[in-house]
Amino acid sequence: MREEEEKKIALVTGAGRGIGKAIALLLSEEGHHVICVSRSEESCGSTASEIQLNGGSSEALAIDVSDASAVESACSELLETHGLIDILVNNAGITRDNLLFRMGQADWDEVMNTNLKGCFSFIKHLARPMTRKRWGRIINIASVIGLTGNAGQANYAAAKAGIIGLSKSLAKEFAARNVTVNVVAPGFIETDMTNILSEDQKTGIIGVIPMKRMGKALDIANMTAFLASQKSDYITGQVFTVDGGMVM
Ligand code: NDP
Repeated sequence: MREEEEKKIALVTGAGRGIGKAIALLLSEEGHHVICVSRSEESCGSTASEIQLNGGSSEALAIDVSDASAVESACSELLETHGLIDILVNNAGITRDNLLFRMGQADWDEVMNTNLKGCFSFIKHLARPMTRKRWGRIINIASVIGLTGNAGQANYAAAKAGIIGLSKSLAKEFAARNVTVNVVAPGFIETDMTNILSEDQKTGIIGVIPMKRMGKALDIANMTAFLASQKSDYITGQVFTVDGGMVM
């Protein structure tokens, strides 16, 4: 059995861009092998290559996290290769914003299936070996919107609030096996997801952030890396907002 000090195997979904990419790069800097998951081969492949160019160890896995059977077969192949995944970061997420009366069924389903079902599927197939080893870290990326709600984001807020309920329940199920489950809830972070906002929208958002700026992907990666480390040994079932003081 591997010692805790040895290099760990981490899997990060949505690692092709933005927050997930920053998390993948930082976990690699901390010495872990990182499996970079995203929808497109090009995107997860470029993060995996960047890690290797920096001297780290990584692999790319292009998969749609909303496809439960694809996730199941990918996870069983990964477990055959690696034995277990020690650190799982469920970060892949999308928005399909609209006011309720204009929100189509597909907008609801796509967001729930990607943001919430995707988390469930990876945990379902990767957590058992963690519980057997009696060590594991599961970090799910939600959003402050899952705590506060937001007009035009009923689907997204419901999925992110769902992630919090899922995480707290699993934290209770896995605690005795020394597998922790925590949530990071970012505020507004500069990534492709928020680049689509107009300058007026960004100014409005910055107006309600006490620190008067948007966050960086690295701000979320730093909290995630802490929760993935030995330093967070006695922390489980918690939600950590990283939002410049927006939600207190
Ligand atoms: P980006 O849009 O920049 O990147 C999203 C990543 O998720 C991409 O790598 C994308 O893959 C991947 N992804 C999306 N859908 C799927 C899918 N079905 N299967 C596999 N991979 C998928 O997002 P951010 O970095 O901004 O956000 C990351 C997470 O943080 C999300 O869960 C988001 O909800 C959350 N968050 C972000 C905030 C922000 O302000 N940016 C605020 C609060 C929460 P590909 O590259 O192949 O397209």
